[in-house]
Amino acid sequence: MSLHIPFDNSYATLPNGFYSRLDPTPVKDAQMLAWNTALATELGIKGTDPTVFAGSRVPDGATPLAQLYAGHQFGSYNPQLGDGRAILLGEVIDANGRRRDIQLKGSGPTPYSRMGDGRAWLGPVLREYVVSEAMHGLGIPTTRALAAVATGEPVYREQGALPGAVLTRIAASHLRVGTFQIFAHRGQIDDLRVLTDYAIARHYPEADGPMGLLSAVCAAQAELVSAWMSVGFIHGVMNTDNCTISGETIDYGPCAFMDAHHEGRVFSSIDQMGRYAFGNQPRIAVWNMAQLATALIQLFDDKDKAVKDATAIVHAMPEQLQAAWLRRFGAKLGLANATPDDQPLIEDLLTLMQADGADFTNSFAALNTDTAHDQFTNRAAFDAWAQRWAQRAPDIDLMKRTNPQIIPRNHRIEAMIEAAVADDMVPFERLMNALTTPYDVGSDFDDLRRPPTQTEIVPATFCGT
Ligand code: AMP
Ligand code: MG
Repeated sequence: MSLHIPFDNSYATLPNGFYSRLDPTPVKDAQMLAWNTALATELGIKGTDPTVFAGSRVPDGATPLAQLYAGHQFGSYNPQLGDGRAILLGEVIDANGRRRDIQLKGSGPTPYSRMGDGRAWLGPVLREYVVSEAMHGLGIPTTRALAAVATGEPVYREQGALPGAVLTRIAASHLRVGTFQIFAHRGQIDDLRVLTDYAIARHYPEADGPMGLLSAVCAAQAELVSAWMSVGFIHGVMNTDNCTISGETIDYGPCAFMDAHHEGRVFSSIDQMGRYAFGNQPRIAVWNMAQLATALIQLFDDKDKAVKDATAIVHAMPEQLQAAWLRRFGAKLGLANATPDDQPLIEDLLTLMQADGADFTNSFAALNTDTAHDQFTNRAAFDAWAQRWAQRAPDIDLMKRTNPQIIPRNHRIEAMIEAAVADDMVPFERLMNALTTPYDVGSDFDDLRRPPTQTEIVPATFCGT
């Protein structure tokens, strides 16, 4: 099959200690399950070939490598992680002049696999495909999904033998907070400097040195996490190795969109303490940026001054998060210029929603309709709130642009995976069709907007990826 990828690789020119060069591991029988034609066009990719996106054939111009990084996992530092089941094929410059990574995930073992098999099964591959593309449809920065390929090989997990698959992930880069941490922690200051210069040139060319980079990443992460909050998204594993320098959402593992609103909502089966609960995410974003600051401080001779400067930058983040939250939730209520005076109005609605177990997405989407109070059990309380709100003369068009009608609900994802395992890709196609335009969904997708019934509720998402 003919395939042309216009590679222009930069990471492979960085020092050897940044990665291990190796090819993906070939698979038995590559079958294309999903291909993102629009994204391929944006990337300048011509043609396709399942054997390339399964890792069985290395395409012309690729310089395959596994990246090295470390990271804090649930608050404890792990001195070495790295791509244990991913291979960066290389980079392209897209139609908008932006450099983008092309990475295979589930492409076989690497020197960083530790006890893992380097593989992924179909479920998490399709979950990441759907949820990352839904995130893009919502207008929130995210890695993208280019391809999902079945490998024809089994993968063994707790549930038993499962069909293997490889995801092709596209990212502004795969630089993580953990990429900085590994060199800082090992005292490889020259490497840390090379990495910092590379990150600035690639993502924030206007940034002035390491402190400029820190400010820019803090701003990007504050925007990102506020955007998640505005659509009820719970990342699930906000470890520093899953926190990008670019400000894109990355690593969709045990993630989920909330159905009923609750600040304490947790889905991840491994998050026993609720560290990454919905309402904790802004605080964790600040914690992650403090880890990036700690790494970048190593670049300075005058440590006292560096600590002071970095602390000021990280301490400014809660205010940025608050401003972004107010702007986004204000817009969801139709208020283009929400001020701190509007905060009680927003918070009171969220409190009502939480008390009533109201559906996050559907309540916001219904606000501008006559039937909004049907979303609440305490209708009188909602009606009283709505009277206060009406006095602020909401802009209905703004609400339609900021309140999605559809999100990838967990029970729909589980059903989609179950069907795909049985070779039925129709639920996948249907979800993808509906989620591409989440602010304007046709009535033929009404069933996908419905919250789960008692028996459909998926209580937890598993890390057994
Ligand atoms: P994640 O929780 O997906 O962000 O992964 C954390 C670390 O575990 C990363 O270094 C991954 O590369 C590694 N990892 C996860 N699953 C596997 C696997 N099946 N085989 C090898 N490494 C893995
Ligand atoms: Mg990860």
